[in-house]
Parts: sequence; structure tokens; C-alpha cells
Amino acid sequence: MSKRKSNFLKVKCGDCGNQQVVFDHAASKVECIICGKSLVKSKGGKSEIVAQIVEVLD
Ligand SMILES: [Zn+2]
Repeated sequence: MSKRKSNFLKVKCGDCGNQQVVFDHAASKVECIICGKSLVKSKGGKSEIVAQIVEVLD
């Protein structure tokens, strides 16, 4: 269980303050549902969280 690598994260958009839940191993980029700002970028097969992480969910 502790070796699990993937998590759901609650992130906060730096532009509009919207909070939404994203998967930290998303295969593609994730954008804010309100303003469209990138929250997760896809980089070489790995995802990079570019928003503020508010909470790690599991
Ligand atoms: Zn936003």
C-alpha cells in the first residue's frame, strides 16, 4: 500500500482560485475547468503539477 505511486491531488488554480481534483499520473495535461490555465503538464510521459497542491487524497 505504501508503495503506491499514484495519487489524487487537490490543486488550486493560481489564476482564479478554483480548486479541483487531479490525478498526478494523468497521461495528458489537465486544465482549470474555470479559466483554462494549465494545472498539470505532460512532460516526457510524466506529469508535472504546475498548480498549488492543496491536499493529497488517497
Ligand atoms: Zn483557473
